[in-house]
Amino acid sequence: MSQRILIPWAMLEIGKETLKKSKAELVFLHGPRGELPTLKELIEGVRNADVLIPRGTQLVPRKVIMANPNLRGIANYGVGYDNIDVSSATQLGIPVTNTPGVLTETTADLAWALLMATARKIPQAHNYTLAGQWRGPGGKVFMGQDIGPGGSNRAKVLGIIGFGRIGQAVMRRSRGFKMKVIAYDPFMKEKIEQTKGVEYRELDDLLKKSDFITLHCPLTKETNHLIGGKELEMMKPTAILINSSRGPVVDERALVSALKKGKIAGAGLDVYEREPRISPGLTILDNVVLLPHIGSATDDTRGQMAVVAAKNAIAMLRGKRPPNIVNPEVFESPSYLLKLRIY
Ligand code: NAD
Repeated sequence: MSQRILIPWAMLEIGKETLKKSKAELVFLHGPRGELPTLKELIEGVRNADVLIPRGTQLVPRKVIMANPNLRGIANYGVGYDNIDVSSATQLGIPVTNTPGVLTETTADLAWALLMATARKIPQAHNYTLAGQWRGPGGKVFMGQDIGPGGSNRAKVLGIIGFGRIGQAVMRRSRGFKMKVIAYDPFMKEKIEQTKGVEYRELDDLLKKSDFITLHCPLTKETNHLIGGKELEMMKPTAILINSSRGPVVDERALVSALKKGKIAGAGLDVYEREPRISPGLTILDNVVLLPHIGSATDDTRGQMAVVAAKNAIAMLRGKRPPNIVNPEVFESPSYLLKLRIY
C-alpha cells in the first residue's frame, strides 16, 4: 500500500509540487473554498495517514494524535506550533516540525506596518477619506504619535518582548527611525546584551519605559496572558501595544478595558485569543488597528513555508531526521525507536 500524506487545508501549488516528489498519495481534506475539516473529520483522516501537514493554527489535540499512534510525523505549516499537542506526539514517538526562518522578514514587515498604522491612525484616516467626510481645513485631524524623533527630537523607546528571529528583524527595522531599543527575553539575555544599540530590561521595566511594545514570543504556558491587567497598568498612557505573535499572550478582556479607560493609547493586533472570534469590545474602539492574522501572508513567503513543510514531511515519511524538528527528544524515545525497526 502506498504511503499517504494528509493535508487538511488548501495547500499552495508549490507545496503540492514538492510533495509529489515523495511518490506518496496526497490526501486533501477541506471544503471547496479551503474550509477546514471538523475535528471528527480530521480524526477520521488521520487514521489512514502516514504524515499529517496541519495549517499553522489548525488544532491538533491529543485526540487527533491518539487516533493514529503509527503516524510518522506532523509537519506544521507555520513557525508557531502551539496548535499541536507536542507532548502527546513525543510520548507516541511522533516527530513534529515547523517552518522557521522563511517567514521572519515578512512577519517583521507586518509588525512594523501595524506599528506605523496604529501610531498614525492610517486605517481610521483612510476610512474617513473614503466615506467622503473630508471637507478640507477645519475637519477632523487624525493626530498621531511619532515613531521617529519628531519635532522635539526625542528618540522613542521600542520595547521588544521575545528577541528571536522575528523580534530581531523588527529591531533592524527600527534602526531607520533612530529609536532606543530595549528588549526582554529570558532565554536571550546574552544575545541582547551583545547586540549593538539594544539594552536588556526585565519585563516590568520594559513595560514602564517603552513608547511602543511589540510581542514576538511563542505561546507557551509561561507566555499565556503575559500581558494582563497588571502589565497594562504599568505602561505609559501614551504607549502603543503591537501583537503579531499569538492572541493568548495578551489578556484580551484586560486589553479592551485598558484601551477604553485610556490606560494605554492604542493597540495593533494581528492575532486574538479565540480566533477567528474577536472580543466585541475591541471592534467598537477607535484606537485599535485589527488584522485577520496575516503576519506571513505574502505569496512568496507562504509558498516557501509550504515547501519547507513538504520537505519536513517527506523526510519523516522516509524515517529520516527532518530539517526543522521541534521535539528532538523524540528520537531517543522507545516508541520512536520501535517504529524505526518497522520502517
Ligand atoms: P523564535 O523562536 O525565533 O523567537 C521567539 C523568542 O521568544 C525566543 O528568542 C524565545 O527565547 C522567546 N521567548 C520564549 N519564552 C519567552 C518569554 N516567556 N518571554 C519573552 N520571550 C520569550 O520564533 P520566531 O520565528 O521569532 O517567531 C515568534 C512567534 O511569532 C512564533 O512562535 C509565532 O507564534 C509568531 N508568529 C506569528 C505570525 C503571524 O502570522 N502573526 C507569523 C509568524 C510567527
